Amino acid sequence: MALSGLEIFKLLPKTNCKKCGQPTCLAFAMALAQKKVSLEQCPDASPQAREALAAAAAPPMRLVSFGLGDAAAKTGQETVLFRHDEKFHSPTVVAATLPDDLPAAAAAARAKAIQALAFERVGQKMPVQAVAVLNRSGDAGRFAATAQLAKDTCKAVILVTQSPDAAKAALAHVKDAKPLLCGATDANAAAMAAIAKDAKCPLVAIAPDAEALAALTEKLKAAGCEDLVLCLETLDRWAEMRGLTLMRQLALKKNFRPLGYPVIAFAADGTPEAQVARASALIAKYAGIVVVDTIEPWALLPLLTVRQNIYTDPQKPVQVEPKLYAVGEAGADSPLMFTTNFSLTYYTVEGDVEASRVPSWILCVDTEGTSVLTAYSGDKLNEKIVAKAMKTANVETVVKHRKLIIPGYVAVMSGKLEEETGWEILVGPRESSIIPRYLKEVWAGQK
Ligand code: SF4
Repeated sequence: MALSGLEIFKLLPKTNCKKCGQPTCLAFAMALAQKKVSLEQCPDASPQAREALAAAAAPPMRLVSFGLGDAAAKTGQETVLFRHDEKFHSPTVVAATLPDDLPAAAAAARAKAIQALAFERVGQKMPVQAVAVLNRSGDAGRFAATAQLAKDTCKAVILVTQSPDAAKAALAHVKDAKPLLCGATDANAAAMAAIAKDAKCPLVAIAPDAEALAALTEKLKAAGCEDLVLCLETLDRWAEMRGLTLMRQLALKKNFRPLGYPVIAFAADGTPEAQVARASALIAKYAGIVVVDTIEPWALLPLLTVRQNIYTDPQKPVQVEPKLYAVGEAGADSPLMFTTNFSLTYYTVEGDVEASRVPSWILCVDTEGTSVLTAYSGDKLNEKIVAKAMKTANVETVVKHRKLIIPGYVAVMSGKLEEETGWEILVGPRESSIIPRYLKEVWAGQK
C-alpha cells in the first residue's frame, strides 16, 4: 500500500538539511507521496527507512520490456495522467498483425512488408516496432512457424493466443527473442503463467473489466509472473475508453498496484482508416501497446505521427543537432545560410533548400530548440551566437565566398552580424518556401 505524506515524514531524518532540494523534510515527504521526487534525493535516509519506503518510492506503473537488442520494446513506467503535467515516458509500441492462417507465400510477403515499415519525421525514426502473431488457425504448428517468421523481421514479437499448446509450440522457436505472450485469462491463468515463467517472457492478463483484471493480475503475480500487461477485452468501445482511463487513474492516483501495469489494446478491425482513428484514441488514452491489422504505409504514417506528437516532452522542443549540414553536393562556392535548431524550422528549411536543387550549406544554430523569431526575441539568437556557431563549424574553411544568408525575419541583426564576423550578410526570405526562388534568382546573381 502507498504511504501518505505524513507516514513517509515519520521515517525521514527530520533535520531539514535541504540536501534534497526541498525546504523541509515534510515538503520532501509530501512530494515523495505524490511521486514528484525520488527517495534517492535524500542522502541521509536510513536503510530501514529505505526499505519501508520502497513501496512508496516504486513507480506506480511497472516498466515492461520485450524483444531484445535492436528489436527491444518497452512500455509502462508512466507517472502522469496528462502530458502537460510532466511528460509521457514510453511511446506507445505500434504493432502490425501477422495472422497464422495465411498461405505461406502471403505470410512471408506480409512479414517482409512489416519489416520495412519505418518512417522518419523531423529527424526522428518512427518504426512499427512489433509484430503481433495471431493464432487464427487454431493450429499450434502453424502458429509456431508464423512466430518464427515474425522473429525473422527483427521486430519485437507478440504471441496472441489463449491456447497453452500454441503458446508452448511458438515459444519453443522464439523464446530467445523474449516475446510478449498474450495471453492469460481467468480460465487458462495457471497454465499460461507457468509457460511465461518458464520462458522468462512477459504476460498479458485479459479480462472484461478493471475489477476482473485486478483479480487476475494478483493471481498471476502469486504464480510468479511479475512482468504483466493489461488487456481489456470488450467490444464496447466507450466502455473500453472509460475502463482504460479508470485503470490509469487507479494506478497513478491511488497507487493501486494490481492495475499498475501498461496496457495493450487492439484496433484491428474495420478499414485501415477506422483502425487508425481508433488506434489514435487508444494512444491518447492510454494504450502502451496498440495492435493494428493494417500494413498500409499511408495509414501507419499518420498513426505514428500522432504517437510522436503525444510523446514529445512538452517542456523540450524537438531539436536538431546544431552543426553545419550539407544539402546536396555542397562545395566551396555553395551558398551558406543559417537557421535555428528547432526541428520543425530546420527541416522546413532543409526541405525547401533540397527542393531548390541548389547544393547548399545550412548552419544550424543552437537556440535551445526555438524558432527564429522566438529565439531572437528571447536573446537566444544574436550576432555573437551566430558568429560563435560559424567559428565552431569552421565555415571559413568550408566556403570561400564569405557571404552568409540570414533569415528575413532577423534582417535587423544584419549590421551587427557583419561587424562581428566581417562577412557580407545577405538577407534571405522571411518564408522558407521562398528559398528556392531566392537561391535561383538572388544567390545566382551574387556569383
Ligand atoms: Fe530531510 Fe532528507 Fe531532504 Fe535533508 S535531504 S531535508 S533529511 S528529506
